[in-house]
Amino acid sequence: MSFDDYRGVWVFIEAKDGAVAPVSLELLGAGRTLADKRKTELAGVLIGHRVTGLAAAAFEYGADTVYVYDDPIFTHYRTETFMKALLACTQKYKPEIILYGATSTGKDLASAVATDLPTGLTADTTLLDVEEDTGLLLASRPAFGGNIMATILCKKYRPQMATVRPKVMKALPREEGRTGKLIEESIPLQEEDVRTKVLEIVRRTTQQVRIDEADIVVSGGKGMGGPEGFQLIHRLAGVLGAAVGASRDVVEAGWIEHHHQVGQTGVTVTPKIYFAIGISGAIQHIVGMQNSGLIIAINKDPEAAIFQSCHYGIVGDAFEIIPLLIEQFTKA
Ligand code: FAD
Repeated sequence: MSFDDYRGVWVFIEAKDGAVAPVSLELLGAGRTLADKRKTELAGVLIGHRVTGLAAAAFEYGADTVYVYDDPIFTHYRTETFMKALLACTQKYKPEIILYGATSTGKDLASAVATDLPTGLTADTTLLDVEEDTGLLLASRPAFGGNIMATILCKKYRPQMATVRPKVMKALPREEGRTGKLIEESIPLQEEDVRTKVLEIVRRTTQQVRIDEADIVVSGGKGMGGPEGFQLIHRLAGVLGAAVGASRDVVEAGWIEHHHQVGQTGVTVTPKIYFAIGISGAIQHIVGMQNSGLIIAINKDPEAAIFQSCHYGIVGDAFEIIPLLIEQFTKA
């Protein structure tokens, strides 16, 4: 089968609270490299209501072209409406590659588009490249519990698609004033044709720092003994202005909600400082925090695997050490 008419690298630009989501800017950085290697253009697809102005940011961060679907029907993300727009755009312009952030929106949209086209989709990619001779997208991701890196190719279908975790790729430096081609698109879609209705948006009311955006993350594991013991993790995080992270066992025990889970089946974090307290250091946890700037582990077992993956390790009881840290950091 010939795919000669498929050209260009696309990034689904996620608009959030009136701005481009940071992961989309990171993907434009990664997409620029792929597009240059393929000697093709880099385009963004922006879907929403009153989002046309956001195309400027996409251009400044590397896009040559931005396709925009700006209509009240796209005010809230709904799989059905966004998928129809993206499918229409894909069928009209035939991109070779489409990248999405591995956010709840990106994951949902990418899988819906992949099913409908149909084409392949590599989820949670951490490395992107193109094969020199064939030009195929090489999408790599940890597999088998993070023990190997699997490189996944989509040979039989186009476009080749991947979701990429936030904070894994790097955005290009902003080139102020850089512009490109803006192409306004629309689809004939009426509200009465859409099965999903958004009745109410309930925002999570939390003063807590977001774990994937925090400079400091204090994570606790099963070693904290229970929900009461885990409160010490919250207290230390509070003193440091840090986000609270957790191992999967802690989440499964119900001590904290899932969006705090760090690791393979949780969030990938790259803070400047990461505390792993009462966490054994299973590979599934390590893959979610190993790129942090400075990793500090506290564990009472000197043989704990976490000590192989940290910059500083404290062998001791978390219930003795955390109060000392809180005391010192409060004074500082
Ligand atoms: P444990 O392994 O029980 O470790 C507790 C640690 O606390 C021990 O090292 C102990 O020495 C120490 N400790 C005990 N008391 C104290 C004390 N008073 N002071 C100091 N230290 C103390 N896990 C994740 O975290 N994230 C994931 O995304 C994830 N995804 C997974 C996906 C799959 C497919 C699978 C199979 C597993 C996954 N896991 C994940 C689970 C992972 O394998 C481990 O089971 C989990 O990370 C262990 O959690 P823990 O370190 O909190 O608990």
